[in-house]
Amino acid sequence: MKNTHKPIAFVPAPLVFQDETLVEVQNMVRACMQCGTCTASCPNAFAMDLTPRQMWRMLLFGLKQEVLQSRTFWLCSACYSCTLRCPRDLPLTAAMAALKRMAAAEGDSANRKKALFYQEFMHNVEQNGRIQEMGFMCHYFLAMHDPLLPMEYGPLGLKLLAKGKLHLGGSGQRGRLGPLFAKVRSMEGAS
Ligand code: SF4
Ligand code: SF4
Repeated sequence: MKNTHKPIAFVPAPLVFQDETLVEVQNMVRACMQCGTCTASCPNAFAMDLTPRQMWRMLLFGLKQEVLQSRTFWLCSACYSCTLRCPRDLPLTAAMAALKRMAAAEGDSANRKKALFYQEFMHNVEQNGRIQEMGFMCHYFLAMHDPLLPMEYGPLGLKLLAKGKLHLGGSGQRGRLGPLFAKVRSMEGAS
């Protein structure tokens, strides 16, 4: 009998690349029910361009680049209010931290600048027990390798100095927060 079957053409399946870092953060907030408690609990929400609630939604829609353009996660001061109050027990502070890491690794130069600022800030607080503004800015300028940057911050520095908001000497708290930072690092498996 004649074989009437036509050979089945091989059509390669489209390659789907999973963005693992995005999926990692999406999984942290997948159960979000958009109640808005995180936004209402956040002391820094007034300065954010996206509320935390909006940002979780956008992440779940896969709008990664739009989220990375936002300043919301950079303004998270890790106070844990949202994490403690979320009715779904979602690890929101950890998700904010994951976005900072993602932006530092994959973001544009503006994001890398913000990441450096954040790292130098935290390093300064860890060393001095509180922010020591002059030391912090000097380290930041050096890390940025931009000789014009101090001029950009000059007017603001002078204004703060005139108002007594810049601390030129030591904090008297040096090293006090070291064990706390070490403990958090070990809890996060970073050391
Ligand atoms: S508090 Fe939790 S459930 Fe409510 S919007 Fe925020 S992340 Fe979603
Ligand atoms: S942990 Fe961050 S996002 Fe959450 S309430 Fe505090 S500052 Fe806002």
